[in-house]
Amino acid sequence: MFFKSDSPEGALTQVPALPLRDIVVFPHMVSQLFVGREKSIAALDEAMARDKEIFLVAQKNARTNEPSPEDIYDVGTVGTIVQLLRLADGTVKVLVEGRRRAKVKRYAATRGFFLVDVQALAELEGDAVEIEALMRSVQATFEVYVKLNKKIQPELIMSVQNIEEASKLSDTIAANLPTLKLSDRYELLSMMDVRERLERLYQLMQGEIEILQVEKKIRSRVKKQMERSQKEYYLNEQMQAIQKELGGERDEFKNELVEIEAALQKKQLSAEAKTRVEKELKKLKMMHPTSAEATVVRNYIDWIVSLPWGERSEERFDIAEAEGVLTADHFGLDKPKERIIEYLAVQCLTQKLKGPILCFVGPPGVGKTSIAKSIARATGREFVRLSLGGVRDEAEIRGHRRTYIGALPGKLIQSLKKIGKQNPVLLLDEIDKMSTDFRGDPASALLEVLDPEQNKAFNDHYLDLDYDLSEVMFITTANTLAGIPIPLRDRMEIIEISSYTDIEKLEIAKKYLLPRNMADCGLRPEQVEVSDAALDQVIHRYTREAGVRSLNRQIAALMRKVTLEVVRAAPPPAAAPLTAAPPAAAPSIAATSTDASSSDSAVSSPAVSSPAVSSPAVSSPAVSSPAVSSPAVSSPAPAVSSPAVSSPPAEAPEAPVVTRKIDVADIPILLGTPRFRAQKQSEPDMIGLTHGLSVSDFGGDLLDCEVTVLPGKGKLVITGLLEKGMEESAQAAVSYVRSRATLLGLDPEFYQAKDIHVHFPEFVRKDGPSAGVTMATSIVSALTQIPVRHDVAMTGEITLRGRVMPIGGLKEKLLAALRNEIHTVLVPRENEKDLKEVPEQVRNGLRIVLVGHMDQVLTEALRLAAGATLFKAPATVIEYRELEAVAAESPKVQEILPSTPAPDDHPLV
Ligand code: ADP
Repeated sequence: MFFKSDSPEGALTQVPALPLRDIVVFPHMVSQLFVGREKSIAALDEAMARDKEIFLVAQKNARTNEPSPEDIYDVGTVGTIVQLLRLADGTVKVLVEGRRRAKVKRYAATRGFFLVDVQALAELEGDAVEIEALMRSVQATFEVYVKLNKKIQPELIMSVQNIEEASKLSDTIAANLPTLKLSDRYELLSMMDVRERLERLYQLMQGEIEILQVEKKIRSRVKKQMERSQKEYYLNEQMQAIQKELGGERDEFKNELVEIEAALQKKQLSAEAKTRVEKELKKLKMMHPTSAEATVVRNYIDWIVSLPWGERSEERFDIAEAEGVLTADHFGLDKPKERIIEYLAVQCLTQKLKGPILCFVGPPGVGKTSIAKSIARATGREFVRLSLGGVRDEAEIRGHRRTYIGALPGKLIQSLKKIGKQNPVLLLDEIDKMSTDFRGDPASALLEVLDPEQNKAFNDHYLDLDYDLSEVMFITTANTLAGIPIPLRDRMEIIEISSYTDIEKLEIAKKYLLPRNMADCGLRPEQVEVSDAALDQVIHRYTREAGVRSLNRQIAALMRKVTLEVVRAAPPPAAAPLTAAPPAAAPSIAATSTDASSSDSAVSSPAVSSPAVSSPAVSSPAVSSPAVSSPAVSSPAPAVSSPAVSSPPAEAPEAPVVTRKIDVADIPILLGTPRFRAQKQSEPDMIGLTHGLSVSDFGGDLLDCEVTVLPGKGKLVITGLLEKGMEESAQAAVSYVRSRATLLGLDPEFYQAKDIHVHFPEFVRKDGPSAGVTMATSIVSALTQIPVRHDVAMTGEITLRGRVMPIGGLKEKLLAALRNEIHTVLVPRENEKDLKEVPEQVRNGLRIVLVGHMDQVLTEALRLAAGATLFKAPATVIEYRELEAVAAESPKVQEILPSTPAPDDHPLV
């Protein structure tokens, strides 16, 4: 250990003292001080008067103005005044340089200024290596500190690196650490052990560095935040400016919120819905109007608010009136109507919806939808239709959860929103056309909807709150029973509506479709007259369907044509309304007056006294003759554009009503070439071509089966758009024919040298054609070269031994046969019981032959040459002759042929 000092310790020197408020001056440092206190200035003066030495010592408390010796630290620095400058305001600027540490031993004078006896302090240095190590650490730490603290000049690092004395190093650094507290500075000054001082300095710097680092972090975080909020602020300002330019979207948003709140006040939402909407509204208010979230929330609120909550139509419970409506809207359909009335009667008494859901099953166009509409009208409810055809996703019924982008409520909720009432008749159309896949089973969702126990609290995934469906009257429709999922079928009361007969169609056309379409076109009843024969023509040659939908379309087309004629013939529109003013004699070429008197008046009225009307053309035989419908006469265009059209409108009210009569011959002119060939009877009998009967979603239909036999190797080829099971049927048919080969006079080995090609030119729809008998007949015909009667149609499957199996859809098949002008229909004997269901007109219109065995089918279907017999074996001939005899007695045998049981094995022997 050794001491190092400018002056030996112990020697006292007397120097004026300068108490410093907030600074510690270290040895070797040059400091600039501003001195204002009188006492201090006096001390400086004294020092200047002496040898410029002054004792620089810190006050304990910077605020003390008049410090006494107790307020001043003991240890200070003896320094030299380098420069002194008196400023204009009386203060003094002084530059001092610290020389050495010293301690006050005695205050020699305190008045005027402090004069103190100080003793120089000797510094203690430690182990050189340790000191060196400490110096390096301190220097390195100082470098770090400087880098963190931007207030220090970086050049200082260099000068600090060059200091070699430990004491000077510590003092220089201590003096240049702006963040050090006064007490710490003083502590460093008062430490005489340099090693300790360096250590303490190191410690202080580390502390400061930590603080600086934290500060830096905080600063950069704050800076980032500032930047972000500044950016947001800036962007928001920009957006508002843009919105302002675009017309004040914010104002619109506010208005919208007010509107929603007003709508909410008016609605009687359930408690759950109300709380939910209020919550969402609160959220919405805090959002930016154009943000994506705001749109989602707004849509959600909109859905809830626009649903019917308690809004209902006033229901009517008048059975007589309901009956009236049903009869007024629909022809026939007695059974369905009766069932509907029963259903409504229960509601009359209970005043609520009870019992199973009604389900109308039948082919298209038989009035399922329109009868549901009538029910709505009869009960005073609104009507809304929801098509389930092709629905395969449960979410279509129940909605998507709101978490999905673009989520929407299910179809049910959408329909209710559309109709705006809580108690409509909701028609679930085509319930048999739903399908199931990985997206869930829509049928099970429907189960909940249709269950009165559960549908009080129907939970749509989008709305995510309970909605009461119990007041909705659900009605469903389907084309076939088979397509309806079994659990759903259990919930429903099935009401079957079958195809219409031609007679029914005619009645419907006359009484309903025609008047309706005329009214739609603005035609008055007396303006058009369509003969039954003409309607029959439309039914037969322009449509071939189970229902009356395309018939309705054709009639609509017909009426439009007539309307055009009438309009063309009418005076200019300003003069008279379309339907009010009769088209005078303008369409006269194609029309005749309703009666003679009106015809007379027409001629004598001034309105029609225009040359064209009074011209001989009007009274020409063509007009008054029954040949109105002759092509020449019914070509309306030139006639309509004749001057007759421009007859003065003022006379219109007195003008006669001229009726446009439409007869058979007009139909092709108005509707174009017929779409279907007439009269199947005129067709020749063909070898290998048999008419089968099938039934599908669209009702019954004819199903032709063609067979050709070619030289080959016994292959059986079956082609056409087929359903499963057809090939097996064909094989069974061939096996039957082989088993009958000898009886039919065929070579028993025929199949070895012949290929049989069975073809169905039209698509065979799914409900199964039951075409075994048809194929067998065609095959036999092709092999024996005996033609098949063109006016016979048949249906039935066969067993290998030729037994004819029962079929389904008999009624539809018979209706189809009648529609297609078939004379005789061969029906499996076991279907006899189903004949009761078939309308009488149909039974009367066809010769129905019940067949138990394929042999009977062949006997009926093949056209044998006179005197020829089909079966060579005598037993067969006898038996079937008997049958034929019965049939021959009454050519239109509607009652059943005598039961001739055909045993499975060789019934004919
Ligand atoms: P579906 O729903 O069975 O397919 P629609 O109800 O759409 O058939 O009926 C088609 C058209 O036929 C409707 O204009 C309807 O009024 C009419 N229609 C069907 N059946 C009758 C009927 N029995 N009486 C009067 N019009 C009928």
